[in-house]
Order: sequence, then C-alpha cells, then structure tokens
Amino acid sequence: RKLWQSVPLAPPDSIFQLTAAYKEDKFPQKINLGVGAYRDDDNKPWISARRQRGLAALSNTKKKRATRILLSDETLDHEYLPITGLPEFTAAAAKLILGSSSPALAESRVASVQTISGTGANHLGALFLSKFYQWGTNEKKVYLSNPTWANHHAIFKNVGIGPVDYPYYDPKTIGLDFTGLVGALNAAPERSVFLLHGCAHNPTGVDPTPEQWAAIADAMLAKKHYAFVDCAYQGFASGDLDKDAWAVRFFVEKGVAMLVCQSFAKNAGLYGERVGALHIVSPDQETSAKVKSQLSVLSRSEISNPPTHGARIVSMILNNPNMFEAWKQDIRTMAGRIIDMRKELFRLLTEELHTPGNWDHIVNQIGMFSFTGITPAQSKALITDAHVYLTGNGRISMAGLNSKNVRYFAESLDAVVR
Ligand code: PLP
Repeated sequence: RKLWQSVPLAPPDSIFQLTAAYKEDKFPQKINLGVGAYRDDDNKPWISARRQRGLAALSNTKKKRATRILLSDETLDHEYLPITGLPEFTAAAAKLILGSSSPALAESRVASVQTISGTGANHLGALFLSKFYQWGTNEKKVYLSNPTWANHHAIFKNVGIGPVDYPYYDPKTIGLDFTGLVGALNAAPERSVFLLHGCAHNPTGVDPTPEQWAAIADAMLAKKHYAFVDCAYQGFASGDLDKDAWAVRFFVEKGVAMLVCQSFAKNAGLYGERVGALHIVSPDQETSAKVKSQLSVLSRSEISNPPTHGARIVSMILNNPNMFEAWKQDIRTMAGRIIDMRKELFRLLTEELHTPGNWDHIVNQIGMFSFTGITPAQSKALITDAHVYLTGNGRISMAGLNSKNVRYFAESLDAVVR
C-alpha cells in the first residue's frame, strides 16, 4: 500500500460547497442565502465605496482608509507582534465586549489574547480548557446547543473534548426550548462546560430574553458550570454594540465562571484578516496572570505570533473616537438593513402572498440568520426549482436578501411550502 492510501476522502465543507454551486449557476435571479457574510443592498460585500462617498469625512471604506493610513505610516514595521497580540488591540477589544466599566477589567482579572478570528478564539479556549480545566471526575465534555455552528463540534473534538447536545431550538415554536435548556443545565454534573452564543445565535437567530438569561445564569451558578461564550456577531443582533454584549456583561457581573470568544470578521467586515480575541475571566489578578502565561505558551506552539494587519486596523478604529463613531454608524446601517429585510419578507409572506403557516419568527429572530422552519425537502426544492441556495436545515442568511430580490425569494418560498 502506498503512503496515505488509507486516508478517507473527507466531504467538502457544505457551506463553501453551496457557494461554489451558486457561483456556477447561470440563472439571473439566483440568490445565495448560505454563507454568513454581510452584503449590502446591491449584494456587495460590506459597505461599497460608492455609498461611502456620501459620508463627507470618508472617501472610501473605513478599512481601506485605515489600511492607507497604516501603509503610509513609516513608524510601523513588519516585526513580530508579542505572542499574545497587539496590546492596544487586545485591551480595546476587551473593553468593547466586557464594557469599559467592567469590574473584571478594573480588577485586572481578564487574560486577553489575540487570536485567528473567532475560530482561533474558540480553538484556543477549547485547548486551554482541555489542558487546565478542573474536570474532576467528569469526562472531558462540552455541552453544545442543538443546533449550533457546525465547527464547534470539530473544534472541541480536535482537542479531545467530547461534544454533547443540550436542547435549544424548538421546531414546534420555531423558538427557544427554554424548559429543555434549563433542564439540561440542572441535570448536567457540577462544573460542566456549556457553550453559549453571546448574541445572534447561529444558526437559529433565536436568543434568550434578558429574563431567560438571568435564569440561565442562576442555573449556571447553582451548578458551578463554566460558560464558554462565543460572541461572533456583536452589533449584528440589534445594531448596538453595547446592547448585544448585554448577556456577556451580565454573566461577568453575576460572577459566572467564563471566557468569551470574540470575532471582528462580521462586525468590522474583516473576514479575511482573521482578527479576534479570547478573553478568560479569572477570580483574581494573580490567577489571571497565570492563565495568560499559559495561553501565551499554547499560542506560541501553534502560531508563534498573531498577524499584525487586522489587529492594527481594529485597534485604530477602536482607539480613535471619530473612527469608532463612524464604525458604530456602519454597524447600525448593516443591522438596520437586515432588520428591514426581515420586516419586508414577513410583510410579503403574510400580507401579500398569504403564505400558509405562521411566519412571526422571521421578525422575532435576530442577527444574520433566520431559521425558516422549512423541511430539508423544501430547502432542496428552493435550490433546484428557484436557484435559491440555502443549507438543508432551512437556515437563511438574511444578508443575502435585498430590496431587489426579496420578492422573488418570498414568492419562491411561498411556492415550496404550498
Ligand atoms: N462562532 C460562530 C457562532 C460563528 O458563526 C462564526 C462564523 O461563522 C465564528 C464563530 C467564527 O468566525 P471567524 O473565525 O470568521 O471569526
């Protein structure tokens, strides 16, 4: 046998496969609702340069402007960053998610490390837990919402932590299975690790209400569970960075043992730059310093030093008051457009087309994604009959809809559910 002959062929990533099929499709009205990347009303990534020209101070996208500033800054070099990342970036990123008046930050008990976007933050967090979490007699397990971002399963398995599902989505209500979720928190052995989505749950778009978050925090505290919070969409749920960080900050305030994974892919439109951070909250400063030292050792063995470019861009945006305000406005624009698409889709289905079924969830869910509640067969029919690309679970990326294609989508959806 030749070397590697027994290696099984892995299936391609379903989301990226979907995008490839969409790209090949020649149908003029085709729509891609698969990938979770923002598109403007012209189906262009992020905010197009054309629209930005309307804003007096900014002649191009903020990222391009920031890049120009960076490229012309001769004081910047191409040296290695510290292993734990650009300090101005990690400090500002921690404030952004935990809040500038966070008690944990004031007490210097947050270890923040720059990571390869949100995926890298999840990986480093999982790796750290696999090595250092006080598992006791418990098996190395992580409780993941059913469903969750598919990569969560792979990321934890890679570091020897077995994923187990907890109930989250209720297909009957197309909403949260709150009783099931709290039941799982209560039934799990003490000090279990629960992965929670900080806001804009992927793939369902279903988030707990503040009252439900409070009950989740109480159950976590009672069982001494660990909250592994993944927050990849801060700003995308409501359009307000602080509002979307509410649950994370509430957990810190309540003293739930936790870490937070942060990504700037979606909210800063920096998908390819791979800029994110992991923040581990410890009980005190001394412990936090130990945690950070070990995170540094782990990062060193995997990437040595994180990349500079994206971190410099985000650092500039977060640390410059004018750029920060302009970015917040962009986030309001992006989230606002998604919310408008939800309203328009809902209006078309309910008022114009009288599509059978209840569609309230379209406007009740938040963030980039919506779980439509349609069956795998109906999802498939949308692809084959209407050239509308979406995942088999009926999830649609609202960002793929715009004022020009929402009617075609509503009509196509109406046709497959009738
Ligand atoms: N976590 C969730 C829930 C996500 O949906 C994503 C992206 O789709 C990520 C993390 C990580 O994304 P990235 O590595 O691009 O920041």
